[in-house]
Amino acid sequence: MALRSLLRQAARSLVVALAASLLAGPAAQAAGADRRLVLVTLDGLAWTEVFRGANPERAADPVSVAADQREAIRKAFVEPADHARALMPFLNEVVARQGVLIGDRDHGSCAAVGNAMWFSYPGYNEILTGKPDPVIRSNTHGPNKNVTFLEWLNRRPGFGGRVEAVGSWATFRDILNAPSSGLPVNAGWEDAPARTPAEAAIARLQAGSARIWPEVRLDTFTQAYALELLKRRKPKVLYVSYGETDDFAHDGRYDQMLWAAQRADRFIGELWTALQADPTYAGKTTLIVTTDHGRGLEGKEAWKHHGKPFAGSDQVWIGAIGPGVRPGAKPEGCASSSQVAATALAALGVDWRAFDPAAGKPLDILKAP
Ligand SMILES: [Zn+2]
Repeated sequence: MALRSLLRQAARSLVVALAASLLAGPAAQAAGADRRLVLVTLDGLAWTEVFRGANPERAADPVSVAADQREAIRKAFVEPADHARALMPFLNEVVARQGVLIGDRDHGSCAAVGNAMWFSYPGYNEILTGKPDPVIRSNTHGPNKNVTFLEWLNRRPGFGGRVEAVGSWATFRDILNAPSSGLPVNAGWEDAPARTPAEAAIARLQAGSARIWPEVRLDTFTQAYALELLKRRKPKVLYVSYGETDDFAHDGRYDQMLWAAQRADRFIGELWTALQADPTYAGKTTLIVTTDHGRGLEGKEAWKHHGKPFAGSDQVWIGAIGPGVRPGAKPEGCASSSQVAATALAALGVDWRAFDPAAGKPLDILKAP
């Protein structure tokens, strides 16, 4: 090809490229905007506790609350006029007011899982993939064959290597398919990365801690790792999963379950404060908070359990706060856990249909892009 025709061709391509970039201007800017996301889950925390606070009858029940806890529990959670704010002030005062908190069935708001199992692995799979998978029928399902939106994002330009997951329950290594998803997952007692001096300190404390449950580490370690990840690695997307609320409930320890819920609420507030104090995140980060399932609502002992035999344990709650969230938005109908993935992607300015057109659509709580 002659030099002149090569130059002509180059000039033509340049014009085409320029025109394309001009046409794509606002959309490209929106797609390239530095939006960030923190997704938080609390395992098996019922909406009744989130919106009504501690159940006074149960909080006084000697079977559910240890004798040496009864007075402290009464003072902390039953005596204050507003039980919900006493238990979870960040969710009820900050998320509900500056963002949205869905699932208060006492006030016409509703959220539920779409899966038929009403326990953890199916619930997390639904939250993270945008739809239930009826094949998942056990928490010992093994490595998840489904691609979560976290894994999908982590393979995308702009997000690659910038997605992190930290959780209390070891099974997150399966749910997020840590060995083959390529997603960095830090979960359970056995996982204790020590890439920074602060992480080394957390690892030492974790190794020296009492272990109540072999598969679920105490949430304080998950929280410490999460804060360190935000500080040092600045992920664009961070998933934090606390576990204590479910396990203390299974143990029948309502007192400890309440303390765990209050701690988790404080942890979420700490995350939010850390995000607002960091220019990398301030004003561009959406926080979504939810749970993988509810708890039984019928009968004196049902609160300890969940799963199909326990009515009401499909009922959940979903909160969101951030620059793209319409404060006080009330989506029509019953919100579904299947909508969390698309909501998260939409908040990031990413086309959720490109992830999975069959995923639940975003909750109607986001401002127009
Ligand atoms: Zn459970």
